[in-house]
Amino acid sequence: MSESMPFTEFLRDMAQHKRQADRRRAALTEYGCSTYWLIHQRGQPGIRCLCCGLDSFNPTDIAEKFCGFCDTWHTEWLEEQTHADHV
Ligand SMILES: [Zn+2]
Repeated sequence: MSESMPFTEFLRDMAQHKRQADRRRAALTEYGCSTYWLIHQRGQPGIRCLCCGLDSFNPTDIAEKFCGFCDTWHTEWLEEQTHADHV
């Protein structure tokens, strides 16, 4: 049986996770990559943050391309033409 994580440790983990997400976001943005995927789970549309890994099924988050954990908006591909011809 594992003990529940002390709250301070939980907060430190969150802060660390947030820093990692920020770094990933910076790298993805630098390479002109989008920071999210649009996903479908159990027939429900959602949005996955590629920085922190959070899935959101909130229609507002999807519409605005917002990540609640990162507390910021996603970036799109820099180039408009994402060739969908490699099926
Ligand atoms: Zn995120």
